[in-house]
Amino acid sequence: MHLCHHPLCCFVPPYMAETLQGSDDPAVRQIALASLGNEYRTARRLLSTQPMATSLMGQLDGKERYVFDMSGASDPLPGKLVRKEGDRPVADDAANEAYDYSGDVYDFYKQVFDRDSLDDAGLPLRSSIHVGDTFGAPMSNAFFNGQQMAYGDGDGNLFTRFTRSLDVVGHELTHGIVSFTSKLDYFAESGALNESFADIMGSLVSQWKYSQTVTQADWYIGKEVLGPGARIQGIRTLMGEKAYANDPDFGTDPQPKHYQDRYVGGRDRGGVHINSGIPNHAFYLAAMTIGGYAWEKTGKIWYVTLKSALGSRATFWDAANATIAIAEQLYGTDSSEQNAVRNAWQQVGVI
Ligand SMILES: [Zn+2]
Repeated sequence: MHLCHHPLCCFVPPYMAETLQGSDDPAVRQIALASLGNEYRTARRLLSTQPMATSLMGQLDGKERYVFDMSGASDPLPGKLVRKEGDRPVADDAANEAYDYSGDVYDFYKQVFDRDSLDDAGLPLRSSIHVGDTFGAPMSNAFFNGQQMAYGDGDGNLFTRFTRSLDVVGHELTHGIVSFTSKLDYFAESGALNESFADIMGSLVSQWKYSQTVTQADWYIGKEVLGPGARIQGIRTLMGEKAYANDPDFGTDPQPKHYQDRYVGGRDRGGVHINSGIPNHAFYLAAMTIGGYAWEKTGKIWYVTLKSALGSRATFWDAANATIAIAEQLYGTDSSEQNAVRNAWQQVGVI
């Protein structure tokens, strides 16, 4: 899989599922088994659907959304069409959330970065809702399979439906943008950068939608997908602390915020969901120093870097140098913006 340029991204990372697997509660263990099984199932599908979406390309420009209902099944995607572009809201909240939030992500990229969908050529945004897991239960996850989004409804205890979170939708669709730009390999540091761009842009979509400055934003990812039984604040945070610690269900957030604490083992494709904490935190530090609305300057530096300045095997060091160079191009040599970006990467130990 590490040779695959099209990211398989399940939003709930393998480390979280592995922790849940150790639970005393059989219902919680079931979520874990299904989540890990789903990852392999999706991997197989991804391998069979490459190259990406060529049949879907060449559409008219503009926002074009389709929402499909899987009615609890796991295969075959996408399911029955329940709402398409321009249709009025339907009775199903999940369908309307998938429609509205994918529209927000489209609008964010169009209005902030003048990008026309994932491929910058109006690629339709397809979402399937009420996706089941491999055991026939509601899937406690969301993923982008290289062609479309898929959302589960969660187990109703630790997780609720995954359409509820705008930053999750922004995260997953940004994986699609990565696949059309830098094509960051989904393995080791390039994979962690892929995950990091998804988290950063997911967070920015939400900040933009709700007009939040860097100090108003909460910088958590995936708060809204947590169910009534979850005692944690979010799946990840871009801030310096742990998103959760010593939780009876979820354990302790494994994300490092400094390069010297990076994970060097082979799980999670070389820590793509773990080490993303390092570039995530670099972005956060730069954004807090630059201030204002994070998408306007810091987000622009990161977006231009993603679009034009990284190869598929880029390392954190490459990303640091690229963002510093782009900040210089956009705002000038030794500008406060460039210095903020350089200082941020120094603080997380990458340069
Ligand atoms: Zn992801």
